[in-house]
Order: sequence, then structure tokens, then C-alpha cells
Amino acid sequence: MAITRDKLRVIAIEEHYYDRELAALFTGLDGKTGGKLREKLEDLGELRLKEMDEAGVDVQVLSHGAPATQKLDGATAVRVARAVNDRLHQTCKARPDRFAAFAVLPTADPRAAADELARTVNELGFKGAMIHGLTGGEHFIDDARFWPIFERAQQLDVPLYLHPAIPHPAVIDTYLKPYHERFPGLLNAGWGFTIETATAGIRMVLSGVFEKYPNLKIILGHLGETLPYLLWRIDHALSRPGNAPVAFRDTFSRHFYVTTSGFFSDPAMLCCIQELGIDRILFAIDWPFVDSSKLGTQWMERIMLSAEDKAKVLHGNAARLLRM
Ligand code: MN
Repeated sequence: MAITRDKLRVIAIEEHYYDRELAALFTGLDGKTGGKLREKLEDLGELRLKEMDEAGVDVQVLSHGAPATQKLDGATAVRVARAVNDRLHQTCKARPDRFAAFAVLPTADPRAAADELARTVNELGFKGAMIHGLTGGEHFIDDARFWPIFERAQQLDVPLYLHPAIPHPAVIDTYLKPYHERFPGLLNAGWGFTIETATAGIRMVLSGVFEKYPNLKIILGHLGETLPYLLWRIDHALSRPGNAPVAFRDTFSRHFYVTTSGFFSDPAMLCCIQELGIDRILFAIDWPFVDSSKLGTQWMERIMLSAEDKAKVLHGNAARLLRM
């Protein structure tokens, strides 16, 4: 069976953890993650490394769990983000062979967030940053107030990873009620995450941010949050008379990368390859939110891709995009 995978380096790039100081500030639904999941999230040692070894994951690019620092007020976010990033740096420094990092950013204070991105990349060797859902629970990241962050990301030549968070309460009320009570998965990976993050991706393209920062790179998890599947249709609809000019499909395909986090499906992967090309697809598991890391690595073993393309997905594209 494992003809090639054993020889391939595996870098997984959406692998979460909890920092105790930050996770203690989570409220409401965000604070509900408990039990075994929480134990795994808080582990940055034995438990995590054991599962990485069992699944054949060489390196995890670590990122905090949602909503990270996105719901904190500016002053708190600035202070906490710095401390969280410094602690994450210590973790990576202790095991540079196994761990790398995406920063948390205090997006409620965009200028400080841009500075923190620069600090973590230049001084701590981080690979970029992850941003989770709506800042302050209400502002999509395409808003012009956040553009200093995009300007700095382009300057530093690092990607920003747009990750889901639980959707706005109005969306829950109108779109998901009452089913989310019997099916809580609908709030997150079952649909709510997807609605919100796909919307964020669409808004990014429409905002004009990629015309202003033509080398800006954005990563979406979960095989692109449905957008690769919808690119043709969105592009077609927005090309009709009455719409402002936008090259939706081209812009998306030029600036976005997608990862396999929590989504190990052959047809969905094939769609991404056909729309974006193999060079824009990166391996991720979404640890610990999938039952076992092996689901991801075993899927990559049996998926019908050439050895060369598997190598790109499993480590080559990450090595290039994140300079690893
Ligand atoms: Mn995730």
C-alpha cells in the first residue's frame, strides 16, 4: 500500500491548540469546547506528538482555535495576542523539527495587528497569521479599516489564513434556528462556518483589496469553503449587466490557496484541482476536530494522484508558500 507516503514529508497547516490565557476569555458558545477535545487542544507535547507520529505527520503549523483574538476589544487583544504569540514561539523553538506557527492578530486594532504580524514574522519566524470570523463579532475582514493588515502581509510576503468562527447571532436566528438545537454541528462545520467563511472570501474579491495589493495571498481551509465549486456560477452572475466590473474567477484563482482541513473527499478535491490547480492545494487535518489524523493521511495515500502531485499537496506547496 504505502508505496510513496512513507518517503514523503507531511506538513499539516491548520492544526489548532488552545492557549490557556486566551481560551479563558472565550464566552458563550465559543467557551463550550470541553472534554477530550479541550484536552487535545491544550496539549502541545506528548498527546499531540503521538498522534502526529501515528498518522505520519512530520510538522504541524500551529494556530489557535476559533475565535482566537477576534472577539476581544482592541486594548485586550493587543496585549493578549502578543503574549499568546510569544508563548507559541517558545513551543516552536523547543521543537523546530515538529512545529511552526501562524500568529494571532489583534484585528480590533488594525494598525497594531499589522505591527504584530511584522513582529511575529520578522522576530519569531512565524509563517503568517490566522484570522477567525468577524472581528468584534460583527465586522467582516474585507472592511477598509483592516487593509493595513493586508498591506503588511503583502510587504512581508506571508499569507493570511481566513478561518471560520461561529456565525453572527442574526444568521443563527434566521438561517439555522431551530435545527441547531438538535444538530449543534450546524453552527460550525455542518454549515454555519461555511456560510460565513465563503461570504468572507467573496467579499474579499469584491472589496478591491487584491487590486490594491496585487501580491496578497489568502488561504482558505476546508477545500475552499465551497468557493471552488461555485466559481463559475458566481463569476457568471457577476458578469451580467448591472454589476460593477469584476474578474471574480480570475481574481480568486490568483490570490487564494485552499487546504484539505477536515474535508477528505475525492470529488471535492478534484473540483479544487480543476479550478485552482494542484499548486494551490495544501495538506491540513484540522486537528483535533477530526476524529483521527489518520483520516487525512490515509486519504492522501489512496487518492488517485501522481506521486509528484501528492508531494506538492503534502509538503511542496507549503514549503514554497510558507518558506519551510
Ligand atoms: Mn480549523
